[in-house]
Order: sequence, then structure tokens, then C-alpha cells
Amino acid sequence: MTNEFTEQRNPENLIKELKRKIDDFLGFAPIGIYQASDEGKFIMANPEMAWMLGYESQTALIQQVTDIASQMFATDEAAEQFFFHLFEAEQVIAFRCELKKKNGTPFWSSSYAKRAFNSEGRPDGFYGFVMDISRNIRMEKELQEANAQLIRIATLDGLTQISNRRKFDEYLSSEWKRASRDGVPISLILCDIDFFKPYNDNYGHQGGDDTLRQVAKCIEANCKRPADLAARYGGEEFVVVLPETDSDGAVQVAESLRIAVRNLAIPHAHSKVNTCVTISVGVSTVIPIPKLKELPATLIQKADSALYQAKELGRDRVVANNGLAIQTCIE
Ligand code: GH3
Ligand code: MG
Ligand code: MG
Repeated sequence: MTNEFTEQRNPENLIKELKRKIDDFLGFAPIGIYQASDEGKFIMANPEMAWMLGYESQTALIQQVTDIASQMFATDEAAEQFFFHLFEAEQVIAFRCELKKKNGTPFWSSSYAKRAFNSEGRPDGFYGFVMDISRNIRMEKELQEANAQLIRIATLDGLTQISNRRKFDEYLSSEWKRASRDGVPISLILCDIDFFKPYNDNYGHQGGDDTLRQVAKCIEANCKRPADLAARYGGEEFVVVLPETDSDGAVQVAESLRIAVRNLAIPHAHSKVNTCVTISVGVSTVIPIPKLKELPATLIQKADSALYQAKELGRDRVVANNGLAIQTCIE
């Protein structure tokens, strides 16, 4: 006699019911789920797994993939790393690598896998979960690029495309700390275009902007050491930070900048010192002493007073203020 109660308790029916539920569960899972043998073949896979790897069905995937290492992983290196972790640690967690579809198209994935063991405790293949993370990777890349672009924009001067005041402030502050820690000199060069107001008044604002661009690029190009930073300080003033550079070295760089700007030979019929655009340059050098708790502003003030001297002494020249003496460089 059978009734509803005995039907349900029938082991065969229970297994069927359980299988139906598991299939339903696996079919609904939005990630690839599989079981594989130690020979590298799929024993079981859910529909998402087959779809992700570009096979028509789970059956097709199980039949056609005879070597997971070469048919599922996009590179030998990825397969090697995956199996190395799996066999060493008996599990793989959030393993990111490129897999490939049946037609060879690679895609980024995140995998979890675990060694399986039979009832006697002997290794018996492995099972795993795979997520297609191509979209996340693409978004991560776009975000990184956008961030890099933002940082670039935030630290660049819009007109001249060299570093801006903000970048200069940050850089000077960090290099000042380094110089203070290491007990080494740090120098600053402040450049100001001579008679730039009459230049603007006569050649127009557009002409003035073009000249600012040329002078900025010229100053930047003539700062040769990787640690040197040239920035637009504001208006027609430019600044260069020279870490680990003593007064003599800084004066040499400053003089080379002055000559380089003059060599641009940008006509300036309204300058009182030359027939072309020139710069006056102030140089300062300090070895910061931690005890004194001096601020980087000290270096700027000293360069500014040296620049003032350069203007006073007739422009188109370099004056260094190294804290001990004022040195004037005239050809
Ligand atoms: P000095 O030799 O003493 O430095 O004289 P100067 O005329 O260069 O100095 P001043 O400070 O009187 O004038 C600076 C001029 O720089 C004022 C302005 O016309 C010009 N200037 C500042 N910023 C810009 C800018 O972004 N674009 C342009 N075209 N001109 C600018
Ligand atoms: Mg000025
Ligand atoms: Mg000026």
C-alpha cells in the first residue's frame, strides 16, 4: 500500500527530489560552479559555468574539455599558479587570472577552488566557483586612469602645463623634511619675467600667454635632474625646487635658465634691459636644522629677497642669497 507519506520517505524519491532541488539551485546560481577530476576533466558543471566558457551546454562542456589547464586558462602561467596553490594549500581563494572561452576569447575571472577527498580521505579531484570579473576589471582600470588624470589636472597649471603652485607647495614641503632629516642642502630658484606688463600691454594678452608657455617649458626642460621640480608660482613667476643642491650648483642651474630663456629670442621691444624677453632670478639655499624648526617658507622668502635684489641691480641676472652673502652673477 502506498500513500503520500510512504512515497516521500521512499529513498529513491528522496534522492530524486534532492537532485531536482540541487539542479534548480545550480541552475539559478549566477556564478560558475564545477567539480573536476584529478585528470583535469569536468565531472559536473552548472549552466553558468558552461555559458561563461562559451559552450552550448553543460554536457558539451563536460565532453569537450579534456584538459582544464590548457582549455580553461588563458595562459600556462595562470594554470600553473592556480594548480600550484590548489595542490600546496589545498584551496585557492579569490584567485584572479584570465580564463578563455571555447573560441579563445580571454576574460578576467576570480576563482575559489578546493581539493575534494573521498570517504577514505584520499584526494579526489577538486571543485570550484568562478566569477567573470571582466566588467569590474574594466571599471577598475577606468577608475585608475580617471584618478591618474585627476591627479595630473590637479597638479598642473592650466595655461603652461607645467606643475602648479599646489604641486610646488607639496613637493617643497616633503623635500624640505627630507633635507632636514638628512642634513643636506635644498635650493630654490625664483624666476620673474622682466617688464612683462609692458609686454602684455603691447603684444596683447594672447601674446603674453604664448610667451608664458614658452618660458615655462624652457625652464622645465632645463631642469635636468629627476628630483628637480619646475612650477608656475603665479602670474609671470616660476619656481624651481632643487633637492640636495648646494648654492654653487643652484646658481649654475639658475644661470643656465636665464641664458636659455634669453636664447628663446622672443622679441620684446618694450623691455628696458634687452630686445628680447629676459628673466631675473633669485636663488636661495638652506640646510634645514631640525632644532630651529624653520619652515619651507624661509627658503621662499630668501629667494624672493634675492630676486628683489636682481631686479634692483638692473634685471636679467641671477642673485643668490645663501644666508651668508649676496652673490651677483653678471656676464
Ligand atoms: P618686472 O620687470 O619688475 O618684473 O616688471 P613686470 O612688468 O614684469 O612686473 P609686474 O608685476 O608689474 O607685471 C606682471 C605682469 O604679468 C602683469 C600682467 O600683465 C602679467 N601677467 C600675469 N599673469 C599673466 C597671465 O596669466 N597671462 C598674461 N598674458 N599675463 C600675465
Ligand atoms: Mg612678478
Ligand atoms: Mg615681472
